[in-house]
Amino acid sequence: MESQLVVLGGGPGGYAAAFLAADLGLSVTLVDQEPRLGGVCLLRGCIPSKALLHVAKVMTEAQHLADWGVNFSRPSVCLDTMRARKEKIIATLSGGLSQLGKQRNVQIFHARAVFEDAHTLRLEGNSQGLADGRLRFQQCILATGSSPARIPALSLDSPRVMDSTDALDLPEVPESLLVVGGGYIGLEMGTVYAALGSRVTVVEMTDGLLPGVDRDLVRPLHKQLQRQFAAIHLNTRVVSLAEKKGAIEVAFEGPGAPRTERFSRVLVAVGRRPNSAGLGLDKAGIEVDPRGFVVVDRQQRTRQAHIFAIGDVAGEPMLAHKAAHQGKVAAEAAAGKPAEFAPRAIPAVVFTDPEIAWAGVTETEAARTGQKVHTAVFPWGASGRAQAVGRTEGFTKWIIDPASQRVIGCGIVGPGAGDLVSEAVLAIELGAHVEDVAWSIHPHPTLSETLAFAAEVHLGTATDLYRPKRV
Ligand code: NAD
Repeated sequence: MESQLVVLGGGPGGYAAAFLAADLGLSVTLVDQEPRLGGVCLLRGCIPSKALLHVAKVMTEAQHLADWGVNFSRPSVCLDTMRARKEKIIATLSGGLSQLGKQRNVQIFHARAVFEDAHTLRLEGNSQGLADGRLRFQQCILATGSSPARIPALSLDSPRVMDSTDALDLPEVPESLLVVGGGYIGLEMGTVYAALGSRVTVVEMTDGLLPGVDRDLVRPLHKQLQRQFAAIHLNTRVVSLAEKKGAIEVAFEGPGAPRTERFSRVLVAVGRRPNSAGLGLDKAGIEVDPRGFVVVDRQQRTRQAHIFAIGDVAGEPMLAHKAAHQGKVAAEAAAGKPAEFAPRAIPAVVFTDPEIAWAGVTETEAARTGQKVHTAVFPWGASGRAQAVGRTEGFTKWIIDPASQRVIGCGIVGPGAGDLVSEAVLAIELGAHVEDVAWSIHPHPTLSETLAFAAEVHLGTATDLYRPKRV
């Protein structure tokens, strides 16, 4: 069988690519080794983690009501019900994807595929209707995603040592949990387990949580997590793990950390690696860089111009919305349109409480590259809405190009930051001037106003603060 376009991988990048390509008139085959569509994001990533973070947030907010004189008794948690509810969300969304594929006549194979050459895939598993299990293609989009990074020192064959997939399965609420890695996954899952009642310790090898993120954005989260977690050890490495008497004994190396400590469970979240090995990419003549990412051009084409790569397997940042966007670029290019992946801003969100979100140029990146920028900050303490909901630790920051006065970056910390940052993405993509943002009327009283107020801070016209323009 020959397909006009085969998409390899049914995650948010792959299905977006497959569905758009079908809408653009191509005959499309989608291959995924899992029995369900959705990829890591839907099956064991973004969506289940956000479901559990929702539970954590409501539980924490209920506690905060004590400040208003409303007291609830200690919650009782039924993990079976929680797991079933999470599973139902995944099943609904995954079923919806199969339906959307059918409506578009996308042929779906649930099988593992390996390249035999630059125009042939061999399917292992369900290869119904294919002579010799071979699928020939005119064009292909590689969207095979990424997997948790494994470090030998942290590999112990014990159910007590988990990766993010295991942790999302909610095997139990461990009395104590060590999270190795203070990145996205470590902090999000640490937040879930702390809310459910575990004593959570985070160990991070660099000198701060969320390395690479602007330090001022991380500070309010760090402070909050110090209250929620038992300990946060920075500049610290885990030297060894050993199973001892129904617990994991962990040896640390770093200032402030104990030499050893026992934990009921350990979650290892030290990054992700692209799924590019074992696919026969060499046989197809596809180039892979030393870190395992497939090398692509601005149309997402690999060294073989008829084979595209998108999402986690095609480079950082490993974010679902970047994958979906690249998938659409590749689908359009495959259909002969002049599409390019050239965003001015890719938003990133850490769904902790408070949330951290940023887009476009960051202060950290500007300092590294020597780019001159201005920053304008509006502290949420001066926001009526933030005061009303008792969340004044946040702030909103614009990064502005001094020469053009256009907004080129944004950082937000506070509840709902992940939703608020979309306005910044639009402003940056449209090349908005800081005055455009300031003069756009924002609804009162909302946290979205802080985007306009921060722009006013830059212009010296903010009236909710005393920051007159320096003349
Ligand atoms: P990450 O890169 O965000 O964080 C890994 C952390 O582990 C880093 O802070 C790193 O310094 C630390 N680390 C590495 N080796 C260590 C060691 N031996 N001991 C202690 N610390 C160590 O990776 P992640 O949290 O595993 O997430 C993987 C990817 O998944 C992210 O890069 C992100 O792209 C994606 N993700 C995104 C979201 C989101 O968008 N909200 C959520 C989860 C995951």
